[in-house]
Amino acid sequence: MVLTKFPKFPLVHRPTPLEPLKRLEAHLGGPQIYIKRDDCTGLAFGGNKARKLEFLIADALEKGATTIVTVGSMQSNHVRQTAAAAVKAGLKCELVLDWRVPWTDPAYGNSGNILLDRLLGATVHLCGKAGSRNDKAHEVMAAIEARGDKGYFIPTGGSNAVGSLGYVDCALEIIEQAQQQNIQIDHVVVASGSGGTQAGMMVGLVAANSKISCIGIDIDHDPVAVGEEVRTIAAQTAKLIGLSAGVKQDRFELAEGYGAPEYGMPNNPTIEAITLLAQTEAIILDPVYTGKAMAGLIDMITKNRFGKDEVVLFVHTGGGPGLFAYSSTFEKTS
Ligand SMILES: *Cc1c(COP(=O)(O)O)cnc(C)c1O
Repeated sequence: MVLTKFPKFPLVHRPTPLEPLKRLEAHLGGPQIYIKRDDCTGLAFGGNKARKLEFLIADALEKGATTIVTVGSMQSNHVRQTAAAAVKAGLKCELVLDWRVPWTDPAYGNSGNILLDRLLGATVHLCGKAGSRNDKAHEVMAAIEARGDKGYFIPTGGSNAVGSLGYVDCALEIIEQAQQQNIQIDHVVVASGSGGTQAGMMVGLVAANSKISCIGIDIDHDPVAVGEEVRTIAAQTAKLIGLSAGVKQDRFELAEGYGAPEYGMPNNPTIEAITLLAQTEAIILDPVYTGKAMAGLIDMITKNRFGKDEVVLFVHTGGGPGLFAYSSTFEKTS
């Protein structure tokens, strides 16, 4: 369909597996639960950002960029995958990171994603707690231009219309896999942070005339801001692919109440969900995104949000490397 007209720089091992979670399903007593393993996209430990970066990097190359600039928190998975994508494309990469998350474990500043950013050879600019990373990124972009290079700025999470094409693409992949495996998916559940993943998924499902609903789980503890982002990016993405009807309001669902206390800070149900998935399915979730999203899914199941014979697909968006920045949280888990 429509996506073929957008250049794509290959980064993703596809299709990522779509598999049943039988042991989790038995533990929870229904609905039928499947998982889309986008933690297995293959780019430097994988994750959802690899899909967005296929379109973003292609756009950067088309515009003649030499240096990719992006922003994020110290343990940003997006930043790590951007550094990796730049390596594969032969581009330089400069990262603007902050430590706004009130997590004081020293590993937060030197292990997990930040360790990988450095290993991948990216230039890391740290901005103070109070500093704005977008302001700092403007300075970095100006310095790049001043030395005669051409910068390409990717916003937080790679969440803009071009990046979201990666999840339009994923929605189509899911529809095809479900057909091949003869599964009638009713709902797709995905962690929503900067919004591009849910936005792209919704647009892809609508564009394919699928009835599958897409439920985002707010992991930021800020449903107004996250909802706004998802709606805005979905509208821009729909426009970009020429889906003139856009995404109707009744297709939009963002589950709230699972992101507390704030971005980057896990809560008890999140720790429990991470432990449960490790010990029922050997699936490794993360404390910032997928653990919160799974805790939300489990809570919705407990509250009978889904019929027993409905089929729910949980999208594992990655984040595993971030787990190592939270080791103190899991010391007592066994
Ligand atoms: C970025 C990220 C998300 C959220 O995706 P958005 O497009 O920012 O909403 C979910 N899970 C993981 C592991 C991520 O790194």
